[in-house]
Amino acid sequence: MEKYEYFNTLLPQIIGLKKGAIAPQITPSAAFGYASAEEAESIFSGEAAKPLYARMGNPTGAKLETVLAKMEGGQGAVVTSSGMAAITMVLTAFLQSGDKVLCIGGFFGGTYALMNDTLPRFGIEGIFCDVDDYDGIEKALQSGVKMVLCESVGNPNLKLPNLREIAGLCDCYNALFVIDNTVTPLIVEPFKMGADLVVYSTTKIISGHSAALGGAVVFRAIKDSDEKLLDSKFSAVHPILKKGKGALMMVLKKRAMRDFGMSANAFASFLTLLGLETLPLRTKRVNESVEKLVRLLDEAGVNVRHPSLETHEHHLRYKEIFSDGCGPIVTIDCGTKEKAFTFLNESKLITQTANIGDNRTLGLHMASTIYRDFNEDDKKRLGITDGLVRLSIGLESPDELAKDMILAWKSAQS
Ligand code: PLP
Repeated sequence: MEKYEYFNTLLPQIIGLKKGAIAPQITPSAAFGYASAEEAESIFSGEAAKPLYARMGNPTGAKLETVLAKMEGGQGAVVTSSGMAAITMVLTAFLQSGDKVLCIGGFFGGTYALMNDTLPRFGIEGIFCDVDDYDGIEKALQSGVKMVLCESVGNPNLKLPNLREIAGLCDCYNALFVIDNTVTPLIVEPFKMGADLVVYSTTKIISGHSAALGGAVVFRAIKDSDEKLLDSKFSAVHPILKKGKGALMMVLKKRAMRDFGMSANAFASFLTLLGLETLPLRTKRVNESVEKLVRLLDEAGVNVRHPSLETHEHHLRYKEIFSDGCGPIVTIDCGTKEKAFTFLNESKLITQTANIGDNRTLGLHMASTIYRDFNEDDKKRLGITDGLVRLSIGLESPDELAKDMILAWKSAQS
């Protein structure tokens, strides 16, 4: 990781305090007193940067926002109650009935359901394209799409998009490019790839401990020239853009969080900050382990799928663009639901749960859980087969994991 030592120094140094209690402070208050009527007015107008009311943010969340913005090289961030809340905040802040969102690649089930079922009920349409379908992508952009949504690595289909190329197309057609970087914090730097907004489920790798549900949106600064948001299709946010470089904070808070209330709570933000202190160390360990484990499983004849394998369709892209790895997800196709159940039940090291990015190795049969209500076409598009098990590799020894999984695989196949 090019900036490994930078992040290893930056994160513990900005999260910890130098004086008094050195752990970040938790401020659980829902309301905050104002010194005077004048101060109340200036807080509501945005002139005074003091807490207004916890639905609009609280001091512990504000600390997390500062750290995430710095880590990502963004202008600012807004933390939310979950990753889904972060995605919903971005969509509802910028879009309105009649708009279309272009969704590129593979998607986590919740995001897919939001785009395919829920938002269409409110008149917002999701258009779906494969990561390599540039004709389809361009056609959709030509139709006036306002926003493009893409996971840095498809969860769980492990397709790898060429983010720079997609960003270039978004710039040509003045579409906002939103990257869900949940699976690859630190190892993919979305703003360098051309993202306008970055979303995270901080529940995952950023926390690492499965103790805090949370999400975040990190945003770039408003540009002095060539600002795509000045396109007439974004006219609804033009009055707010006059607030300057950090105006996207106001767009997110005033046009979504204030009215939908997807706000983070202070305790979850505190726990997330604790996880962030060790993020670079954990990231390096997991990404190195994944490659070793996948190789050992493949050599033992396990039907494992991962871009580090030459047989994967995006192996070259993995080597060129994802040189630090592509996160903790690995999939194994056991062939049938029954075999997948045996594999999971026989493993001594896998914790069966619907999460990823934990310090322990997690696993889940996809078709009977997250994707159980999806029809066959949608499952095909997302790469969900009857025997598919998603694994999220943790901090354990890759050799021990391989031994355990090979035994479980043999039991399942016998
Ligand atoms: N984005 C991705 C890539 C995810 O994997 C998930 C959850 O699994 C989410 C978003 C939603 O996050 P949360 O569960 O925190 O709402």
